[in-house]
Amino acid sequence: MSGSFDVIIAGAGAAGMMCALTAAESGLRVLLLEKNEKAGKKLFITGKGRCNLTNASEQDTFFENIVTNSRFMNSSLRRFTNEDTMRLFESLGLKLKTERGNRVFPASDHSSDVIKVLLRALEKRGVELRLRTEVKELIVREGRCVGVRAVCPAGGSKREELFADSVVIATGGLSYPSTGSTGDGLDFAKGLGLEVTECRPSLVPMKLREEELCRRLQGLSLKNAGVTFERAGKKLYGDFGEMLFTHFGVSGPVILSASASLPRDACESGLILKIDLKPALDDQTLDKRILRDFKENENRNFANALNGLLPAKLIPVMVERSGIPAGKKVHSVTKEERKRLVTCFKEFELTVTGLRGFEEAVITKGGVSVKEIDPKTMGAKRVGGLYFIGEVLDVDALTGGFNLQIAWSTAVSCGRALQEQFETGNGRALRERFGNR
Ligand SMILES: Cc1cc2nc3c(=O)[nH]c(=O)nc-3n(C[C@H](O)[C@H](O)[C@H](O)COP(=O)(O)OP(=O)(O)OC[C@H]3O[C@@H](n4cnc5c(N)ncnc54)[C@H](O)[C@@H]3O)c2cc1C
Repeated sequence: MSGSFDVIIAGAGAAGMMCALTAAESGLRVLLLEKNEKAGKKLFITGKGRCNLTNASEQDTFFENIVTNSRFMNSSLRRFTNEDTMRLFESLGLKLKTERGNRVFPASDHSSDVIKVLLRALEKRGVELRLRTEVKELIVREGRCVGVRAVCPAGGSKREELFADSVVIATGGLSYPSTGSTGDGLDFAKGLGLEVTECRPSLVPMKLREEELCRRLQGLSLKNAGVTFERAGKKLYGDFGEMLFTHFGVSGPVILSASASLPRDACESGLILKIDLKPALDDQTLDKRILRDFKENENRNFANALNGLLPAKLIPVMVERSGIPAGKKVHSVTKEERKRLVTCFKEFELTVTGLRGFEEAVITKGGVSVKEIDPKTMGAKRVGGLYFIGEVLDVDALTGGFNLQIAWSTAVSCGRALQEQFETGNGRALRERFGNR
């Protein structure tokens, strides 16, 4: 198929492919443009290559896990729910499984299978997918988007004009730019005078001031840590779960979630991270536990009596922080010293100096303002024929499959709106009016 199209979609990521699939269902002629040499490059790396494609929790949990603009998602998440996502993928031949935290994965554990079934369905429904084709500009006439100017191969200089009744921007955000998400859609929106909220990396590791300590603890994973973030003595955020020390700071699920939930400027001015290394024990119970271990190691040096309480990498650090001499015999550690040790366990204090960059961020916080977008159709309110779906929008959620569900739901809502518009005859009328295809 070539020539004229009903819909042009820029970006063959999760949202673009799903929208193409939905729009083509009712026979719309869909052109899907992707600047990479293959579709779904980011989808391929999701869920550590396993693709956590949605979450099987109740609807309410979904809204609780959407950090920014959850109300905007009300309509599309009800129109195409997590259950619809699971049903759809199963109908496309993808077996699914649900894991801890209601996270849904392909049974094969391969994200490539998600991409495979989507591509197969796109082909079956006659969607024309053009790879290595980069959308450079939108063509807007009389306040209506009627097509795009694109280059092929991507990065080349020869521009081709492609026309359609509707243009969908599914170019993603700014995170992991190596996958092709370089913020092009944000520039298109800005170019048309649409509001784009400030973008910053989210679900992203944090940098710490204690560089030397990070180097010593690098690779250490804490399976069940309590984390509290404080500024000027005020608690801003708290959580429990898994975290990891890296060469620059901290990462892992609780840290990534914190990066998404903390206020915008929190990391810029003396943000304190307190780690509770024994969240299941209160101070008194922990003291008893320490006493018990000390009793068993009575005649050993203090530094050799912590093996039952801490991972090996942390022991020398805790010895230093406690101020108890490493060579002191355990039987002579005082009550006061033990109290200091308990505080070190319960409030292992570090200073956050900032977030890592978009290169390591799972998601972009910020994007095309939802004020500009009709939440039922994903259509731009001020430019006819133009739609925005997926991560390019100012909507983001925590980890657990929620972000991909945002991509699927906004994509299907848009695809269905395109179908409906076409069925009411608008499409044909517009084509006659703007001719030239
Ligand atoms: C490491 C990592 C792991 C993740 N794991 C999960 C997970 O397990 N579960 C989950 O729910 N979410 C996960 N996410 C988030 C999820 O990947 C995104 O929410 C989702 O991919 C957004 O889909 P999208 O289609 O809007 O954008 P993208 O997937 O970014 O797709 C945009 C596409 O548009 C193309 N494009 C860009 N500009 C142009 C242009 N000018 N012309 C043509 N094409 C263009 C890009 O090449 C790209 O293919 C993860 C993210 C990362 C980075």
